Amino acid sequence: MLSGWREVMARRPWRISAKLLIVSSVVTVIGFSAICVNVMLDMRRGEEALARQTLENLATTIEADISRNIDVYDLSLKAVASNMLLPEIGTVSKPIRQLILFDHATTARHFGAIQVFDAEGRLTIDASTLDPVPENRSDEDYFRVHRDNPGAGLFISRPTLFRGAYSIVLSRRISDTDGGFMGVVAGSIRFSYFHELFERLSLEPEDTITVLRRDRTIMMRRPFDLDVIGTNLSERQRWKANNLRIGSSFAGQGPIDETPRLYVRSNGASPLFVVAGKPLDVVFALWRTEALRIGAVVLVLALFVLGSTIVLAREIGRRAEAERKLEEMATTDALTGLRNRRKFDSVIDVEWRRAMRQQTSVALLMIDADHFKAYNDTFGHQAGDQVLVGIAICISDSVRRAGDCAARYGGEEFAVLLPNTSATDAFKIAETIRCKVQGWSDDQTTSTVSCGIASLVPTAGLDWSILVNAADKALYAAKAGGRNQSVVASLPKLSLVA
Ligand code: GH3
Ligand code: MG
Ligand code: MG
Repeated sequence: MLSGWREVMARRPWRISAKLLIVSSVVTVIGFSAICVNVMLDMRRGEEALARQTLENLATTIEADISRNIDVYDLSLKAVASNMLLPEIGTVSKPIRQLILFDHATTARHFGAIQVFDAEGRLTIDASTLDPVPENRSDEDYFRVHRDNPGAGLFISRPTLFRGAYSIVLSRRISDTDGGFMGVVAGSIRFSYFHELFERLSLEPEDTITVLRRDRTIMMRRPFDLDVIGTNLSERQRWKANNLRIGSSFAGQGPIDETPRLYVRSNGASPLFVVAGKPLDVVFALWRTEALRIGAVVLVLALFVLGSTIVLAREIGRRAEAERKLEEMATTDALTGLRNRRKFDSVIDVEWRRAMRQQTSVALLMIDADHFKAYNDTFGHQAGDQVLVGIAICISDSVRRAGDCAARYGGEEFAVLLPNTSATDAFKIAETIRCKVQGWSDDQTTSTVSCGIASLVPTAGLDWSILVNAADKALYAAKAGGRNQSVVASLPKLSLVA
């Protein structure tokens, strides 16, 4: 495994490096981008948390203000409801009665005058006048609630037109000592109170403040829209209990308009609660600018790194190709295109050791052109070269197995290394080559080759030169035997494979 890797590295070091370079650059860019995305998401979460905190403070402050006013007003209602039970109330004069009932009654600017209705809904007492104009409120929900439900406590009505101004009506039941229904005491908080409250706050035009009753009826909303006031949201999908819990927030579309906002509910426990909303566009405006800026810089850097990597990888590829060509040139014989002597020596060294490890045979053919000097002398050096090329083609055509190595050994002599090949098989190949050369040169001036063949299984301590010498000797034997023939070396002392 390790030696295989070393061989790959030795063969194609640059290509591996180019791939490594591309992979490491891509991984770096992805890692760097992931870190940036993470940082930007953190920043976004920070912006959201800040906005949520601000909105929560705002909603809670508004709720506290409303709650305090309701409490103050409720105290007056409670006082009236209990004072109505005083036995003297029916006997004293109207001015004295007004003093008893409304002495402590709150008379702030946005509070309507407190009124008392009897068990039939008739207006009996009005804090603003000694002689109220007769009216009957028995149809109003705040009257019916108290009449039908002794434990209603403080009831806050839906927004309604009350005494000429839009108001919410606060009411309490007047019960006698046995709990019997004696009437209702009611007062109102005008919308002007909310308008003034909201005006005091510095809000963006798209910010919303919604005041809701516990049953999710909208009591007031900024921006003000009369059509929305009084809408009950309990049936709507948005702002249901799961996305509008006390003190919690959610980001998305609200029930009234389509603008996505961050909505935060106040975390008090008063009868009315407040939801403050800010458009997500505004919440993330700063972050978006920053994210775009950082994103653009990161993108440019990433493109630069990837671009540089591609240029470098191409350059590495070009160099690898040039190196491969150089190596090929350095290991190839220019005339015949076969391997040269240097390459042959390194190949035989590797194959010899491999055969020794695996205890397999390795065969060598030494092929020499017959009477080549004479041929040169007769037909000229260039014609001789052509014959050498022809012999090389005959050899290449006959030696096709991967791992075989055909080389020009020197001058008009060729060597063919055949790993894992017995002497018999090597002889067959030698004969094929010899016959091919003979056949090829038949129609031209006859030229032939002689082959010496040796095959053995290397044993420890043996050098590959022994194989070369044996094949050489066999070649001499072939020459001596009359040329144009193949002779197998006899190696009695070695483990000859025949
Ligand atoms: P033998 O049959 O005994 O091998 O006889 P030979 O003439 O082939 O042997 P010798 O070693 O006497 O001659 C080899 C000749 O090969 C000498 C040289 O002119 C020729 N030769 C060697 N290299 C080249 C080459 O690259 N091109 C050409 N054309 N001839 C070459
Ligand atoms: Mg020769
Ligand atoms: Mg020779």
